Amino acid sequence: MDRPPPGSVEDLATLAKLDENILLEELKIRHRNGHIYTYVGDILVSVNPFRDLGIYGHEETNRYYLAKKNDHPPHIFAIADTAFQNMLGYGGRTPTNQCILISGESGAGKTESTKLIIKQLVELCRGNTQLQQQILQVNPLLEAFGNAQTKMNDNSSRFGKYIQLMFFNGQISGAKISEYLLEKSRVVHQNEGEENFHIFYYMFAGLAKEHLQHFGLNGPFKYRYLRNGQGSLKHSKDKLKKNYEELQNAMDLVGFTDEEQQDMFTIVSAVLHLGNLCFEEDDKDAAYIQDQNVMDTVASLLKVDPQELSGTLTSIVTITRGEHVKRHYSKQQADDARDAMAKILYGRLFGWIVNKVNQLLASRDNIPLSAVMEVGILDIFGFEHFEHNSFEQACINLANEQLQFFFNLHVFKLEQEEYAREGVDWNEIKFIDNQPLLDLFLAKPIGILSLLDEESHFPKGTDASFVEKLNVHFGGKGFYQPSQRSNDNKFTIHHYAGKVLYTASGWLEKNRDTLPPGVMEMLQMSSNELVKFIFRAQVTRTGTLAFQMKKSTRKTQKSRNTSKGGFADARKRKQTLGGQFKNSLQILMERMTSASPIFVRCLKPNHLKSPGNFDENYIKEQLLYTGMLETTKIRREGFAVRPGFEEFVNKFKVILCKPSLPGTRENCLKILQASKIKGWQVGKTKVFLKYFHLDQFSEILEKM
Ligand code: ATP
Ligand code: MG
Repeated sequence: MDRPPPGSVEDLATLAKLDENILLEELKIRHRNGHIYTYVGDILVSVNPFRDLGIYGHEETNRYYLAKKNDHPPHIFAIADTAFQNMLGYGGRTPTNQCILISGESGAGKTESTKLIIKQLVELCRGNTQLQQQILQVNPLLEAFGNAQTKMNDNSSRFGKYIQLMFFNGQISGAKISEYLLEKSRVVHQNEGEENFHIFYYMFAGLAKEHLQHFGLNGPFKYRYLRNGQGSLKHSKDKLKKNYEELQNAMDLVGFTDEEQQDMFTIVSAVLHLGNLCFEEDDKDAAYIQDQNVMDTVASLLKVDPQELSGTLTSIVTITRGEHVKRHYSKQQADDARDAMAKILYGRLFGWIVNKVNQLLASRDNIPLSAVMEVGILDIFGFEHFEHNSFEQACINLANEQLQFFFNLHVFKLEQEEYAREGVDWNEIKFIDNQPLLDLFLAKPIGILSLLDEESHFPKGTDASFVEKLNVHFGGKGFYQPSQRSNDNKFTIHHYAGKVLYTASGWLEKNRDTLPPGVMEMLQMSSNELVKFIFRAQVTRTGTLAFQMKKSTRKTQKSRNTSKGGFADARKRKQTLGGQFKNSLQILMERMTSASPIFVRCLKPNHLKSPGNFDENYIKEQLLYTGMLETTKIRREGFAVRPGFEEFVNKFKVILCKPSLPGTRENCLKILQASKIKGWQVGKTKVFLKYFHLDQFSEILEKM
């Protein structure tokens, strides 16, 4: 068979001849022609264009409205449309909850895809409700507080999120966001060439002078936590101002009151001032505060007693034999206490924002939960490999391993196991199983996270003793490589997406996530309503915050938010950060397993964030580690649609013009033969159809 002109094929699974180079060439030519989307069967591949293609307007919205997949070119809107139709059970499908899983390196386009999918899902419902408007504004809001410029991406998500959109009678009835592990350490430290969270820069560009004055702020260049003031100076003040206005609009539309907004900025300002607190040491090595004015500003913003604040940041009081003994911190300890306080202030604020959004977007009108269908969209932080990789990168990359595992499980493992069970005639397609990497991180009691917990609970544990344990247990085992030099606290992990050199400095502290004694109690007693509220919340076993419900909260809220990781869990012993992350990943996997998955694979064409540059080697690497060739093969040869006999006969008995027909294997065969469709197989309990067969059946039904 002649190969169609390269770049013209919209579904790579239709190619007769397949190898890595063919895939690469197809994607390259399509990218050059501005066709960034390509199907691999039911999977969408997207190559970041790094420019505005003008393909997300009304025209496209209407084109992908209850459409047939193959009638139009591949598009991210088609994924939203498919999810919508599948969820509602259009075209002879059984209504099923959907989850859209978007994967790819940092900067590959996951968050942009997420926003486009949400926009299209909202459009598909038609109508123009307040709730729809609110949902569209959630992303700008969360991005302002949770995204930052990194070396890999100017708008990098520094937290993971799973957004569930609830539908009732085909209309959006609510939304819920779960967030994963905000990178709090960024508040107090950014690597060279990177920035703090966007909100800090937006604030300076957008807040009116008198507001800035009110918060005691002047000019971003004065703050230590904004090391480089305006970051890379990449963003003009006008752009930042526009972003601020967008945020302001989003906060208003989502439903944050003026008072709440004021409190949010108060906390963000307090964090900045806190960063400017400097400590000196007296001749007894005791830390004292250099500039009392800064201290007073922080105390007045947070509405706590300045004396108590300075005491808490410079000393610890213990009770020994009934006597209060005050021990002074060293300069280093005081610096750490200050940074820990800044991190928890920002982290709790973010947790509260997510929680508040969930309250504001919760399902209305006491809709019965059993009648609600949902589409979930997973947008995590992409795989990262910097010069220095710390605990945060380990967690981010673990999440990506987990997602890759889930992909393999669905695309290769479960599918091929079922073929074997059902006796389908099938040549096995091999894939690279990353289970050993998940085990390396997650196994109990000997996995990286368990060992880290063990060492964190051990009073004499250090980063060095942790790395030593890793070396003892994993040294020389395929995926883990100890450092060549002893004592540098480094190790390398061969992730599915490449080698990453980790530096374990500060991991124990980060994992313990403890606060200096007294900070929590002090903030709980603040006279600022929001500060008080967010510090009286409990941390659940997944690391989210459980707030004491205020009376005004809707009734339905309670049952939703306390199901998993609610108050009951919060009473148990404090989890380490690693432990929380592990739990939240597990719950995420359970959620995803209970829905039917749709995969979007984002590829990054170059390291330069530049349009029109297609780095072949880089793309090839991504094709290799995502198993794209094997995926294409299984999509070409595999059976994506597998209805049971009963279900199949019920749906398609009309083809035999029978009003009723028993759901037997024989009747399935009769229908299939009458349909004249080719390439199916019939197993022991199910019919095995290719992903495009359903469209063919719909056409037959339409013509009848
Ligand atoms: P991270 O893991 O760091 O959060 P990400 O995969 O979410 O990365 P995005 O933030 O979605 O990456 O995309 C990075 C940038 O690439 C965007 O800010 C935008 O400039 C560009 N981009 C991504 N997708 C598109 C698109 N469909 N059209 C135009 N530009 C895009
Ligand atoms: Mg992102």
